[in-house]
Amino acid sequence: MKKNLFFLFCLLIINIFLWQVIFQITCPYFQVTFLDVGQGDSIFLRTPQNHYILIDGGSSSKVLEHLDKKIPFFKNNIDLVILTHAHDDHYLGLIDVFQRYKVNNFLWNGVETKASSFLKLQELVKDSNIIIAKKEQRIRAGFVFLEVLHPVNSEQIKDLNNTSVVTKVSFKNNSFLFTGDIYQEIEKELENIDSDVLQIAHHGSKTSTSEEFLRLVNPKYAIISVGKDNSYGHPHDIVLKRIQKYDIFVLRTDLLGNINFFSDGEKLEIKI
Ligand SMILES: [Zn+2]
Repeated sequence: MKKNLFFLFCLLIINIFLWQVIFQITCPYFQVTFLDVGQGDSIFLRTPQNHYILIDGGSSSKVLEHLDKKIPFFKNNIDLVILTHAHDDHYLGLIDVFQRYKVNNFLWNGVETKASSFLKLQELVKDSNIIIAKKEQRIRAGFVFLEVLHPVNSEQIKDLNNTSVVTKVSFKNNSFLFTGDIYQEIEKELENIDSDVLQIAHHGSKTSTSEEFLRLVNPKYAIISVGKDNSYGHPHDIVLKRIQKYDIFVLRTDLLGNINFFSDGEKLEIKI
């Protein structure tokens, strides 16, 4: 009798495990997760056709703890990694990502720094197909489309934050705008920016997110990726007040942890 019960228990566990694997393979939603990596940015995207995209890696190996849960154990590659710009709160975690996963494509702005950690990353990315970001590039991943909105010519930009690769990612009628750390002067230059979800640039710094930009993007949701009690004072009160003037729902990684969006192409669902 005890043996039978044990056998049934084992079958149940196998059954649960198999359904988890099947769900991971066949999930019909476009998923976007703003990962809680402390002070920094890291966003994980998964298309309904199982393409995996990572935008930035935060400032530590914390990103790997999240990816271990997001990427099934039987998959060891990421289709595309995007580095918005070469500041350590965006690239340091990518060193661990490139050491753990095979990255098929690496998109970045081509603007280097001399930091030894950045040189280490540059060594690691040599095994990937390297793409230098340019405005109007389009990348298709199944039914998900990624468009590069900035930079036009990164060599002419003096401030590294303003060289950030800006992308708009769309799945049918839902869209997300990822802004890196750009300032208001770059926000003014962007086109085709209306989006359901706006990543607030530069962690909510007052250098970014003008009222005009908010009006033109016209998002339902604004995401602030920021570390708890950070020394920069992010997000700035002025920015929070600007957002409050509009009918925009604000979600912050320092208060909520990971922020998950599930899109069926028409509706967006949020899971915290
Ligand atoms: Zn940053």
